[in-house]
Amino acid sequence: IPPLSSMTLTGNHLIAGREAAPHSHTFNATNPTTSEKLDPVYGDATHAEADEALQAAEAAFDALRLATPETRAALLDAIADEITALGDALLERAHAETALPMARLTGERGRAIGQCKLFAALIREGSWAEARVDHAIPDRQPLPKPDVRRVMMPLGPVVVFGASNFPFAIGVVGTDTVCALAAGCPVVVKGHPAHPGTCEMMGRAVENALRKVGLPAGCFSLLHGKGNDIGTTLVKHPLTQAVGFTGSLRGGRALMDVAAARPTPIPVYAEMGSVNPVFVLPGALKERASKIAEAYVGSVTMGVGQFCTNPAIVLGIMGPDLQQFISSSAALATKVAPQTMLHSGICQAYGAGTAVWQTIKGLELAGQSETPPSSDATQAACRIFTTTLDVLENNEELNREVFGPCSIITECPTLDDLLRYANKLEGQLTATIHGTVEDLREYAPLVRVLEKKVGRIIFNGFPTGIEVCPSMHHGGPYPAASHSFFTSIGTASIYRFVRPVCYQGFPEEALPELLQDANPRGAMRIVDGEIKR
Ligand code: NAP
Repeated sequence: IPPLSSMTLTGNHLIAGREAAPHSHTFNATNPTTSEKLDPVYGDATHAEADEALQAAEAAFDALRLATPETRAALLDAIADEITALGDALLERAHAETALPMARLTGERGRAIGQCKLFAALIREGSWAEARVDHAIPDRQPLPKPDVRRVMMPLGPVVVFGASNFPFAIGVVGTDTVCALAAGCPVVVKGHPAHPGTCEMMGRAVENALRKVGLPAGCFSLLHGKGNDIGTTLVKHPLTQAVGFTGSLRGGRALMDVAAARPTPIPVYAEMGSVNPVFVLPGALKERASKIAEAYVGSVTMGVGQFCTNPAIVLGIMGPDLQQFISSSAALATKVAPQTMLHSGICQAYGAGTAVWQTIKGLELAGQSETPPSSDATQAACRIFTTTLDVLENNEELNREVFGPCSIITECPTLDDLLRYANKLEGQLTATIHGTVEDLREYAPLVRVLEKKVGRIIFNGFPTGIEVCPSMHHGGPYPAASHSFFTSIGTASIYRFVRPVCYQGFPEEALPELLQDANPRGAMRIVDGEIKR
């Protein structure tokens, strides 16, 4: 196996270990900072190649799902090692393709490696599979109780769409791929066309890891493509059992509709972003308006605002403290240097979205980067707007995500108005409250409303920067995500790609290991109604 750090990119699709050269609708990655085209040439995978990848995935499914958890965990550890072995070459290619700073990319690579190790530990331990055992009671009256046991089983081949804004942690070997492989599902990735070279490097890391642990090459394929055709083909394919997606509402919704229209519908787990309202309450504003403004502008501009958790709408009760917060935020915005966005499409959408806002009567530009952005360098300026609640409520487009470093601070007359707005919110990934403990007591009804609207509620923090841990929930009611029950980040994300199977009356030795009485893994289970190891 050649060391990946010295790898020459080929532009090939990686289909179950076979190299397939691009031959139709070719495209190059573009460096967003310089507009320079980057070699090599990539191209759209064909329908035959999509079929080949999914046939291979189906053929590899039994080997992957019936492999011991140790083997699948070894695969994840080997992927982590292969990513590490890519060294600086991976960071440099990702930097050229996305313009994300090297420090950010280094941190994100650490997160991707950490995710591999986290899921390896999860499946070695076994409690995640929620094994339940109810022993038979043959002499129960009036009817005997049968022996019933249930455990989670993988769904089958999963199609993954990587995100443009997290080339490592939500990319080819991001959270979707890693938890699908951990569960025992082969994966076919549709690479993001904005960073195909990074996709190829990460895809080769998985290929090498599969070879190292002796699992079939069909467990993984990477297909490139630009335009909707290849993605739609993969979702329609009868062997696809589930889809993981992070991106736009338009793309996610289109794929949900394609999946629902199949003769056998399948789940599409789409994480589609939101406006992430932030409520700054009076006590907090009185105590620390300037400090909150500093953290807020930092959150809005982090990663050039290219996060689905960007705090795009702030609401507070009108008065001098809110005015101070607005003027501090506006002053800070002027000092933010314009930065290069991920690709020209996202940059144009940002420019167009904020230009539409500026035509809305009653919406004021409070402050923006004083240095003008360079369109040659795909740059975006930070823009902080202010408005009143009636303008926000009467203009639907202000309540839709504009991806980039912009945000709207809204003056509300009373608590009742805040509550009315919160009650009308669409599903959101997050909502944030800045307050004192007294604020939280007085505004408790706001928390009760937000519990019905969002996936994660943050107190005195900001929604950007997501901790990858067992209790994280990164999802929310539609349109933030397609299924509010599921998270796309953290260990609970594995439940997207499994389903329960129940065994009744089986002899011990014919049961999956996690359901046997001996419980050799020592996993936490519910046995005859009692939670124990
Ligand atoms: P995107 O346009 O939704 O694309 C994501 C992936 O889905 C790409 O591989 C794309 O490839 C594919 N796709 C999109 N629409 C499709 C369709 N109708 N049928 C089949 N495949 C489809 O997202 P993006 O390029 O990352 O960024 C664009 C916008 O998405 C941003 O401006 C932002 O609003 C949003 N976004 C949200 C998040 C989030 O975390 N929720 C992250 C990034 C971006 P093809 O177009 O080549 O088919």
